[in-house]
Amino acid sequence: MAQIIDGKNISEEIKKEIIEETKRLKETKGITPGLAVILVGENPASESYVRSKGKMSQEMGFYSFTDRLPAETSEQTLLNKINEYNRDPKIHGILVQLPLSKHIDEQKVIEAIDPRKDVDGFHPMSIGKLVIGLDTFRSCTPAGIQEMLIRSGNDPAGKHVVVVGRSNIVGKPIANMLLQKQKGANAVVTIAHTGAEDLTRYTKFADILIAAIGKPEAIQGEMLKDGVVVIDVGINRVEDASVPKGYRIVGDVHFDSAAKKAKAITPVPGGVGLMTVVMLMKNTLKAAQQM
Ligand code: NAP
Repeated sequence: MAQIIDGKNISEEIKKEIIEETKRLKETKGITPGLAVILVGENPASESYVRSKGKMSQEMGFYSFTDRLPAETSEQTLLNKINEYNRDPKIHGILVQLPLSKHIDEQKVIEAIDPRKDVDGFHPMSIGKLVIGLDTFRSCTPAGIQEMLIRSGNDPAGKHVVVVGRSNIVGKPIANMLLQKQKGANAVVTIAHTGAEDLTRYTKFADILIAAIGKPEAIQGEMLKDGVVVIDVGINRVEDASVPKGYRIVGDVHFDSAAKKAKAITPVPGGVGLMTVVMLMKNTLKAAQQM
């Protein structure tokens, strides 16, 4: 039976550490980590992410607030807001909730955030530092994956990690994190994507398989080798008339067949999804500690 890598336990453990560190920072230096979340418009999914970020910030003992801007906010107004928070000494982390409406250039917005406050880890400076192995803000979902591997006793060192997916928010950063010659990394990494003619040719040779595809249950057990560690990043809604809501959430991995092959596996829900906001808190604390 595969070990379940439990996102709830691991995220709770990290939350306790952050609360302790935050207390210490307040007592020793009088600094309270501050997080500004900017939300433009009224996307329901973004609303819910922003709420959970605000709630967890309170739980951690941070100073935090959400700046809600109307959907028609111009790019310049948003850039001005970011500048305001860049200069505000009470704010250590700035997060602009993505996606933004089409009339705003997302990349321009990301690049307007002071890299010292880039707690989402999306600024090219943060990504560049990550790639060349320097200490930086690591984007939250990949940072959560690395923590899950380490804390569940599945150190990637010396292992062959196959990442399926090359997005800028998951696939590319996790691949770059795990290939570093560093503690909790030092893996041999392969990145697969739609350019692969036969995905199984790569997944079969994974000691650790990370699925960040965005396709429900795309990875089946038969594509994996025995003893693999499976990290399922996917969050997909599939219709299911047998449940009251009419849908259920599944990952990018077919859990039952993969669990038969795996040494360890993350569930969906209850896995990677619980790590992202906690890692945002960790980055905010780090930003405050570095001020
Ligand atoms: P994305 O931007 O859509 O990227 C998906 C990647 O998968 C692309 O690189 C794509 O290849 C590749 N891909 C798609 N179909 C494939 C196939 N059949 N075979 C091989 N590769 C394939 O997605 P994302 O933002 O990385 O998100 C991936 C999943 O993780 C989604 O389900 C998302 O909801 C979830 N997610 C969860 C969290 C969290 O837990 N907090 C955070 C972020 C994302 P190409 O580049 O060739 O198109």
